[in-house]
Amino acid sequence: MKLTIASGKGGTGKTTVSTNLASYLSQNRDVILCDLDVEEPNSKLFLKTALKNEEIFNKMVPSWVSEDCTLCGECGKNCNFNAIIALPSEILVYPELCHSCYACSELCPTGSLPMKPQKIGVIREYETKKFIFIEGRLDLGQEMAVPLIGGTIKYAEEKFKDSFMIFDAPPGTSCPVIEASKDSDFVILITESTPFGLNDLVLAVETMRVLKKNFGVVINRHGIGDDRVEEYCKKENIPVISKIKNDKEVATLYSKGELVYPHIEHFKNSIKEIANFVEGIK
Ligand code: SF4
Ligand code: SF4
Repeated sequence: MKLTIASGKGGTGKTTVSTNLASYLSQNRDVILCDLDVEEPNSKLFLKTALKNEEIFNKMVPSWVSEDCTLCGECGKNCNFNAIIALPSEILVYPELCHSCYACSELCPTGSLPMKPQKIGVIREYETKKFIFIEGRLDLGQEMAVPLIGGTIKYAEEKFKDSFMIFDAPPGTSCPVIEASKDSDFVILITESTPFGLNDLVLAVETMRVLKKNFGVVINRHGIGDDRVEEYCKKENIPVISKIKNDKEVATLYSKGELVYPHIEHFKNSIKEIANFVEGIK
């Protein structure tokens, strides 16, 4: 079972739900929590962890070998991402724009663009008291989150293939969240009952429908705003898995980097509701 926890925008409580749900579920089963918000992973802040393994993550980029190059200009024409520019006297490669598609390298008539690994981040595996936590972390200045998200999922799947996986996705509705959701069995969209929450939820729902994913909604900070999110879910036949009550105490525990469910009963009940729903997914 692979479960992605996503949201149309940041700050909706995605990481709070992911970390608390992972800890709660791990009382009865093997759980792997993966922080896939590789540009800004923060799940670790809420967990007491011990580092078990660290791997450098590379992406493949072309490297120009000037000696054999005839300056024919084909490579510049073959790149859909403007990552390689063929000037009259040299070839410029922009690794940060490169999508590692190999087109320039394979179509170069003189073999002057061999692909070489370039470090873009790290994958770290930690042990907590109850479950395994894995995070992908992009190096500063790197922009290509998708390969590292895919690499982090692959790492988790290869090492822990029979475990229950929770993917804490990056916020938004673009390529990174698609990468974090595309192979999941179910996606939980976290939102809040405000006009902003609704606006971003509608976009996230459209994305999930394009991906043909099964999904449901958790409304966080329930009690602020209005009923429009609930009305929208009802109209669209989207299950509302739980409504987490708005409570200043939750924010206080969050700011201290603590898990919430051991301290607040209504929050624990919501996590239990989500856990029961997830356990019931066939
Ligand atoms: S395609 Fe190959 S030979 Fe042609 S300009 Fe590019 S690197 Fe040089
Ligand atoms: S590998 Fe693909 S994306 Fe990267 S420079 Fe070559 S053609 Fe462009």
